[in-house]
Amino acid sequence: MSRERLLPDIVPISASSLEMWRRCPREYFNKYVLGLPESDSGSSPDFGNLVHAMLERIHRDGSCRDDAHVEEVLALHGIESDGAMAGIVERHAQRCPSPAEHAKHELEIARFHRLPPPMFMGTGRLDAVWQHDGLLEVRDYKTGSVVTERIADDPRARLQAWLAASIAERLGLVLRVRYEHLAAEIDDDPEPFEPDADDLEAIDEELRTTAAAIQTAAADHAFPGVAEAEVCGYCRYRSICPESAAPGVPTWPTPPDDDPDDE
Ligand code: SF4
Ligand SMILES: [Zn+2]
Repeated sequence: MSRERLLPDIVPISASSLEMWRRCPREYFNKYVLGLPESDSGSSPDFGNLVHAMLERIHRDGSCRDDAHVEEVLALHGIESDGAMAGIVERHAQRCPSPAEHAKHELEIARFHRLPPPMFMGTGRLDAVWQHDGLLEVRDYKTGSVVTERIADDPRARLQAWLAASIAERLGLVLRVRYEHLAAEIDDDPEPFEPDADDLEAIDEELRTTAAAIQTAAADHAFPGVAEAEVCGYCRYRSICPESAAPGVPTWPTPPDDDPDDE
C-alpha cells in the first residue's frame, strides 16, 4: 500500500524553511509539513518588523535623509524622533543608495526551478532592491549584532541572490547583495556579495540538492530530530518533541483546571 504523500512535487523553499531544515529535519517537519503551532514562544520579532515597516513607509513618498519627513512618518506611528528607531533610520541613511534609478521595498519574489529535477519554488521577501550605477542591489536590514563575516557564505543571502539573479540578468545589471547592520557602525557591515555565473550555478546546485533531500525525507516519512541540547534549547517545539534534548513546559495557552467547587 502506498504511503500518504507528505509534500507536493514542487518543493517550496524559503530562507526560513532552509534554515530550519539544516538545523533539524524534525523541526522542519513540525513547521512546514504538519503546520503545528509552536509550543515554545521565541523572542519577539516586533522591533525588527517595525524597522522594516518604517523604512518602507519612509521611502514610499520621501527620503530617509529628509529629517522633517522622517520625523513626520515616525510621529504618525507614535514613535519618538530621538529614540532607538530614529538612530536606526539615521544609520540606514548613511548606507542608502537613494536617489536611485528605481527602488522597491518589501518586494515579494518567487522563482521556479524545473530542470534538472527536482522541481522547486523559491520564495522570499527582499527588504529593499535598488537599481543604481549599473547594479541591482538587494539590501537586507539587520537589527541584531553582526554574525556573518562573509555574506557570500550565508545561506539566506545565497537564496536572495538566486531569487534576484534572473531580474538582474534581464535588466543587464550586476547583482549585489548587501546587509545593513542598523544597530552597528557602517564599517562593521560585512563585504557585499556579487555572485558571478559560477556562484549562481553553485547556489542552484545547493538548492537542488536540498530540495531532493527534502523530497526523499518526505517519501520515506523520515524527519529525524537532532536531539542536541544547544539546538533544542532554541527550538519552538522543544516541549512537545519526543527527541528533545531540552524538554520544557509548552507556553501555549492551556484550559484552566476544572474547579472542584463546580462539581
Ligand atoms: S526539540 Fe530538538 S530534536 Fe526536537 S524538533 Fe526541536 S531541535 Fe529537533
Ligand atoms: Zn534610504
